[in-house]
Amino acid sequence: MTGGAILEITGLVVAYGRAEAVIKSLDLTIDRGDALGLVGMNGAGKSTLLRAISGRLHPRAGRVLFEGEDISSARLSELPRKGLVLLPEGHRVLRNLTVRENLEIATMALRPAEVRRRLNETLPLVHEMFPVLADRSNQVAGLMSGGEQQMLSISRALIQKPKLLLLDEPSLGLAPLIIDRIYESLTVLRDRGIAMLIVEQNSDRVVRATNRMVVLRDGSITAEGDSASLDASTIHAAYF
Ligand code: ATP
Repeated sequence: MTGGAILEITGLVVAYGRAEAVIKSLDLTIDRGDALGLVGMNGAGKSTLLRAISGRLHPRAGRVLFEGEDISSARLSELPRKGLVLLPEGHRVLRNLTVRENLEIATMALRPAEVRRRLNETLPLVHEMFPVLADRSNQVAGLMSGGEQQMLSISRALIQKPKLLLLDEPSLGLAPLIIDRIYESLTVLRDRGIAMLIVEQNSDRVVRATNRMVVLRDGSITAEGDSASLDASTIHAAYF
């Protein structure tokens, strides 16, 4: 299926407990095939928004529709099966398990035969994008570099067959060359039709890897537009 919205957020309000809302009546649409970049400074509410979309926090008000279905109060465990997958901040992998085990366990909710089928389907792409993971299949993940762990983290997300991938600061703490590799892999995934919402603090790389950009400040959108036409000074003004 191409065209049309994969994610539609309307009037979203998100808060922690009784505190003042962090996300304040936010509207946002992501179309199929879109790569949307969302930037904003520390504390703007970026991670909170991702938590609300991915079912980790339930909104105080508003709706989140995924492929037309209201997922505002969906259980966390249901969403990856629908194709909505979050790649959390800080390349989380299971450090004591091997690379292979990390990939197998990403499909834990499936029956064993289905796990094998899913791995057979996805591993060629994973190994093509990140050959190092093929070489290190039996290596304990916690002993790999931060960049390699991020590659594994992306691969774990991929095994879940995402239709929409939410990425929370995929470049955080990584060296520039590794960030380039990670962003190249995101371009490959996008070419395969996976929509994405990429959250970063800085716009430099994300603007080149996306077709649309949104700036978030204090829980509200302060600028949005095509990545190609939104110039650095507009982003800067909206950011601060
Ligand atoms: P960063 O780039 O630093 O991760 P961010 O844009 O992702 O920032 P959030 O982490 O969403 O911002 O934080 C937005 C606001 O929500 C901040 O004021 C923060 O203190 C508050 N906040 C975040 N997590 C919690 C929590 N678990 N409980 C209470 N308040 C929280």
